[in-house]
Amino acid sequence: MHVTRRSFVELGLQSAAALTLAPRAFAAPAAASREPLRQFDYADVQLTGGPFFEQYTHLHAHYLALSNDPLLKVYRERAGLPAPGRDMGGWYDFKGFVPGHSLGQYISALARFGASTGDAACHQKVHDLVDGFAATLGPDNQSILRPPPANPPNLWVCYTLDKHFAGLIDAATLSKLPNATELLNRVLAGAQPLLPAKGRDRIGKKDPPYDETYVMPENLFAAADLTGNAVFRDFAQRYLLDREFFDPLSRGSDPFPGQHAYSHAIALSSGAKAWLVLGDDKYKQALAHAFELLTTQQQFSSGGWGPNETFITPHRGELYNSLSTTVDHFETPCGAYAATKLARYLIRFTPSPADTRHADNLERVLFNTILAVKAPDSDGDYPYYSTYSPNAQKVYYKQKWPCCSGTLAQTVADYPLNIYFRADEGLYVNLYTPSSLRFTHGGTPIELTQETRYPAEDTIAITLRPAAPVATTIHLRIPAWLDRPATIRINGKPAGVSGHPGSYAALRRTWRAGDRIDLTLPQQFRTESIDDQHPNTVALMHGPVQYVALNPPAGLTNDRLPLPASLKPSGPQSFVENYSGTQIIFVPLHSIQNATYTTYFTKA
Ligand SMILES: [Zn+2]
Repeated sequence: MHVTRRSFVELGLQSAAALTLAPRAFAAPAAASREPLRQFDYADVQLTGGPFFEQYTHLHAHYLALSNDPLLKVYRERAGLPAPGRDMGGWYDFKGFVPGHSLGQYISALARFGASTGDAACHQKVHDLVDGFAATLGPDNQSILRPPPANPPNLWVCYTLDKHFAGLIDAATLSKLPNATELLNRVLAGAQPLLPAKGRDRIGKKDPPYDETYVMPENLFAAADLTGNAVFRDFAQRYLLDREFFDPLSRGSDPFPGQHAYSHAIALSSGAKAWLVLGDDKYKQALAHAFELLTTQQQFSSGGWGPNETFITPHRGELYNSLSTTVDHFETPCGAYAATKLARYLIRFTPSPADTRHADNLERVLFNTILAVKAPDSDGDYPYYSTYSPNAQKVYYKQKWPCCSGTLAQTVADYPLNIYFRADEGLYVNLYTPSSLRFTHGGTPIELTQETRYPAEDTIAITLRPAAPVATTIHLRIPAWLDRPATIRINGKPAGVSGHPGSYAALRRTWRAGDRIDLTLPQQFRTESIDDQHPNTVALMHGPVQYVALNPPAGLTNDRLPLPASLKPSGPQSFVENYSGTQIIFVPLHSIQNATYTTYFTKA
């Protein structure tokens, strides 16, 4: 597997040729049939308001404000270069848990923020960080991955390398850095002597080996596409977790119980990429079954899973038990990254989707996990675990700069990708949030704007402005949680199309500039059981949003409440319950920052 300097140069030449011709020419027809619905590019979609935009704007500024010298310090120290700036602390330093691990994720997220917003400062920072990183590669191209001479810290080579690749791929494709593609080849060549020849599984949270080969294939396949370097693809195929994970999943078995949660959930994205690249049905079947298992047996009502970072054994009441045995219920930014990517891949793989299950779960995860995390401070303190026990609070992780500081940036920077999808037959509107989209259908440019206060209100207005009249179909997601039909009007008149819950309403017509769709989704309260052994322990849902009790009195969790019938509106997104003479306020989980809250109740 060792690549000599000479063969490396040859690979580089092949990659230059491949870039101009091969990947698109060969991949397009097959890939199209594997991906009937397609994502838009970051640049096509802009968030324009609402709760996702607020968090997106805050984090765009937050990650842009991280200082470059501290981010590069541990890299420069390992390279023996002048290393100005303060230590980052926590996981990130040379003596930290995984030195420098998340640099690639910050680069990736900045490139994504820059691509959607057009903010040149993001691309400049990507440029500066990639140049700074490149200067630390050294003659062996190993940079931070180089084994230290003594007292080696845990370098987690695969784990960190995967993030390097993600950053360089996004720097090349989204920030258009001309040297990033060549850097991918150099970093791979440097890492090769340090990489295991075969993939390996990690079992639980505390069982070594910790390093995670099986999270890598998604980015390895993407790097192979981008560089034309076949070594990337060879490693991608070696590291697919077939025997322990994709094979049993594709046969309808359940390999999740006892496994480390996030790393296996994100490995599903590698299975998704394997389906796109290799076309082996096994991976598509495995993903579909994994989604079914995760959403029916593993997840809390928030959309989170894996108490203590471990998948539970179903039908034993383990989700319920976890409410009293831990406060570490969901590793939220990382887990949300995996869950949103899985849902988007499955949306992309499902032709003319007959139901909305993937998109409904995507919405659930977005509103109640990633949108619901505490905002980071400016000193390396980040959200990590969400807590669903009684009288919970949102807290930062005990160590600075954890894994979740990287996935928080990437998950939020990906918000524009969740809203719209395109297919040959038209457009899919998948998420309701203020936004704008530019796309073309049959060569006609179309601008679309979505205005709404959803989920605070039930109505959504979508306006189309095609450059010329255009015949196409706009599909609207009608969520399965509705307990009555949606109403749809076009230019004020009933659209005459079924708004049946759990389906996509297809609006086919010739659209003209200024045509307006008004969609109403009548959100109601409902309760959802925590698991099949505890049907009376319930979460309170209003449309896609989980509501929690604010500053709950002692004993609230165990007393039987006549939910949701007893709730009375008391303000925008605020409801009140009379509890033995005390008024209890219910608000969205995502609206809490510092207050105490309770998530699960006993239903009367
Ligand atoms: Zn994490």
